[in-house]
Amino acid sequence: MDALFNAKINTLRTLLRSSNHAVVFTGAGISTPSGIPDFRTPQKGLWTKNNPMEVAALSVFKRHPQRFFDWLHPLLVQSTNAKPNLAHEVIADLQNKGIIKAVITQNIDMLHQHAGSTNVIAVHGTLGSYTCLTCSHKVQEDDHLIIDFVQNKNLPICPQCGAFLKPDVILFEEGLPMHAWQAAQEEAYQTDLLMVVGSSLEVFPANQIPGIAFHNQAKLVINTFSTTPMDQSAHLLLPYDVTHVWAAIADLER
Ligand code: ZN
Repeated sequence: MDALFNAKINTLRTLLRSSNHAVVFTGAGISTPSGIPDFRTPQKGLWTKNNPMEVAALSVFKRHPQRFFDWLHPLLVQSTNAKPNLAHEVIADLQNKGIIKAVITQNIDMLHQHAGSTNVIAVHGTLGSYTCLTCSHKVQEDDHLIIDFVQNKNLPICPQCGAFLKPDVILFEEGLPMHAWQAAQEEAYQTDLLMVVGSSLEVFPANQIPGIAFHNQAKLVINTFSTTPMDQSAHLLLPYDVTHVWAAIADLER
């Protein structure tokens, strides 16, 4: 690695050590090294193959469940097979050391949770649980109904009432989960160091979180390849592979 990279990593170390309430905000770019393509990457993303409004929408789930689950299946297989990478692992480790206080993620893939992060605020929901919209029965991702769907494509049906179980991710035509959104905003008001990791801050309204933090005097660090609307406000830009950046601070202590 070059001298500029090393200098920036030293700055990041100092920022983290001197912070009181560091928060990480992650997007698809933290999961691409785990083999999960960015939804919005041209040619590769799942949303460019299908018009999202024709598949990932609440009305499609309700009226055309087979079409909805046909869209969900490859996404779920990909997430189920994916393993957390070094960035997820180091973030979890620094969180357990008390250096990072919270993780806000736009990702639904559960990789932060599987890496051992606690206090993960998933503003778009996750594939970690499923709920029946008719009777509110809930199952977790390791339930035999979900495993049967992943392995055999048998659609997950509520054992209590026979309706289809909906993954707890936010579909088009749905609002953000209120408790997660409020928790994310509270973190944005409380943090003094917000690190954006693998997000180009294009998705509204989740992308408002770094702005709220910045306007409350938090320092911003942005670790993503692409430019973002917040680059001008950032204290430190790290346009490097997320696994390289986080591996370089894996040994950080207070
Ligand atoms: Zn039910």
